[in-house]
Amino acid sequence: MRYYDAVPAAGTRSSRSEELFRSGLRVFPDGTSRVTVERNPTPIYISHGEGAYLFDVDGRRRLDLNNNYTTLIHGHGFTPVTTAVASQLERGSCFANPTEHEIALAELLLGRIPTVDRIRFVNSGTEAVMFAIKAARAFTGRPGIARIEGAYHGAYDWVEIGQAGTPSNWGPDESPLPIPLYRGVPEAVARDVTVLRFNDIEGAERRIAQAADRLSCIVIDPMPSRAGLTAPKPGFFEMLELSARKYGILILADEVLNFRQGYHGASARYGIAPDIIVLGKIIGGGFPIGAIAGREEVMKVFGAPGAKPTLPQGGTFSANPVSMLAGYAAMSAMTEAEFGRLETMGERVRRGLAAAIDAIGGTFSITGSASLFRIHPKPKPPTQFREAFMSPEEAALMSRLSMHFFNHDILLPNGAAACLSTAMDDEDIDRIIACFQDFAADKDPIKN
Ligand code: PMP
Repeated sequence: MRYYDAVPAAGTRSSRSEELFRSGLRVFPDGTSRVTVERNPTPIYISHGEGAYLFDVDGRRRLDLNNNYTTLIHGHGFTPVTTAVASQLERGSCFANPTEHEIALAELLLGRIPTVDRIRFVNSGTEAVMFAIKAARAFTGRPGIARIEGAYHGAYDWVEIGQAGTPSNWGPDESPLPIPLYRGVPEAVARDVTVLRFNDIEGAERRIAQAADRLSCIVIDPMPSRAGLTAPKPGFFEMLELSARKYGILILADEVLNFRQGYHGASARYGIAPDIIVLGKIIGGGFPIGAIAGREEVMKVFGAPGAKPTLPQGGTFSANPVSMLAGYAAMSAMTEAEFGRLETMGERVRRGLAAAIDAIGGTFSITGSASLFRIHPKPKPPTQFREAFMSPEEAALMSRLSMHFFNHDILLPNGAAACLSTAMDDEDIDRIIACFQDFAADKDPIKN
């Protein structure tokens, strides 16, 4: 029996989606073109998006808490973005020359983010993380990186190490092992990755000291989503910054996801002054983008007037005018007031969910900040990846929770951060809370 045959009629997978999936299976190894597409077991195929909602190919409307993995801060089809993009398409979509639009987006971002002076655009978060690490290497002359266990930073080999360990292989708390993501990763890659546990102040300090002479950078995410969307403990980032300064290591903050935490970004919010900040997702207004922003001295590796770059960085579609214009339209609409409104809605959803959990006396907990939240099948909110890691029973409970939301026409990401968009309002928030209350109160027929 297929999993979804067991769920009630409302919200069951559409037959058109099933048909499309069958076609997809003929051309893609697993039926789709990215591993992150949710399948239960059939993905739902989308016809279009409108504001806070997605419409599937059978015309069913669902509140979207995924927003393409937190990218669409204004939801779908945001008019300033569509207008800007439509006007550009008639004029050409990519050139081997720069356009004025890249300068406008660069000025907007550098004007908002303290501590960075120069920026370079690429096409994805993965590419931005890769070039940021290469920049740290070119600047320091060292090959290694330190990274937080369980945090996701895209698909560059070095940051994939330590991303997906399990209790059976991740090693002792004092010395987390550099577990490769897949078989066949060159051993040399793992040798140059030091895995740190988030919020482990003493352990991380010791491990950085041990590896210091080979470390180019410490890669952090101010609130790593896959590692639990957990908040930094007081003192953790201070220790990282002090250690970095002591040993001449750069701090590289991956804000691909968490830049949406505030007008000045996540590092500013948590009081960190990184040498390099990596951006992506929201800054492209729904189009492919990534960016590396950094201190002037560090960014010189990409070149300076009259000087050859020590790190040549190109990219056929880098800074293409479509992404630049879309990003500018989306980000200029993200005023401080809009960030404030999102923050208030985020507090409303986290408070409402926490109250529902209190009412049932535990089982779940909530983490997150600003417009982001994660529901954990744990009575105590996790503080790092090992605590957030789900047992098979907990994972099954979360799948049932996601399925419950799906049956109530709300798309809740499973095992990743859920996010709000400016297209939502308090009514949407209250619907999310009510849906969770319903599940928590055990009224849901699929729970048993
Ligand atoms: N870093 C973080 C923190 C991310 O969340 C992601 C994407 N989820 C990436 C890097 C990679 O970005 P992309 O998918 O655009 O390559």
